[in-house]
Amino acid sequence: MSPAILRLSKVAKSYGSGATSVKALHDVTMEIGAGEFVAVMGPSGSGKSSLLSLAGGLDTASKGKIFVEGTSLNGLHINELARLRRRAVGYVFQDFNLIPTLTAVENVALPRELDGISPRTARKLAMDALGRIGIASLATRFMDELSGGQQQRVAIARAIVGQRRLILADEPTGALDSATGDEILGVLRQCADEGSAVMLVTHEARHASWADRVIFLRDGLIVDEASQAHDPAVLFSQAQH
Ligand code: ADP
Ligand code: MG
Repeated sequence: MSPAILRLSKVAKSYGSGATSVKALHDVTMEIGAGEFVAVMGPSGSGKSSLLSLAGGLDTASKGKIFVEGTSLNGLHINELARLRRRAVGYVFQDFNLIPTLTAVENVALPRELDGISPRTARKLAMDALGRIGIASLATRFMDELSGGQQQRVAIARAIVGQRRLILADEPTGALDSATGDEILGVLRQCADEGSAVMLVTHEARHASWADRVIFLRDGLIVDEASQAHDPAVLFSQAQH
């Protein structure tokens, strides 16, 4: 049994307080082991993005515990949390979150450099990641010189640079054509096969079919789980019920 890279225990998340409070997650318990690729599906507003941002330490849970590689996120000092995020977690945001004044390779290298790796090594790692995503030739372009799909690929390269143990991707193929989307899924699959834990939010059954396990969220609860469901038709029928 491989150790859990990510573990959530009875996690709840509410936004706001009082009458306007929104409960985004109710009671989520789950774990993802090393080498495991988990897809998260569910209708809009079901809590998928909330689940990912809690797992990546971008936001704090209202209740429950979250562990990344055995370290509880709950008690971490903000600086320690930032360090753990940079070292262990690769995050692909829905809206990319790239820095416009940096080139593609600088965007990808930045988290490594912040971690104290020499600029030269960080740049090499960044070039490797861009190469894996198939956009090494765009390394010196600035963000406004790239299409939406190209920016999305830079965001994915930034998430996988330097072998992060936990890779979290929130609908990372939205701006990509389907061939490029499949390529990206292949890269995420490969990251899992190399020992990372991967959690992907997607509404496309075809993409979920790359996963070892699919979690279905509804109204902030895990309502169903399908293992080894590599048949998109089966997944699609499950997503509908
Ligand atoms: P999904 O990604 O599945 O669409 P989200 O996690 O974004 O779902 O949202 C779950 C619920 O929490 C929704 O009702 C949404 O409106 C609410 N929500 C998400 N983020 C916030 C926020 N920052 N402030 C208030 N409500 C939020
Ligand atoms: Mg979302």
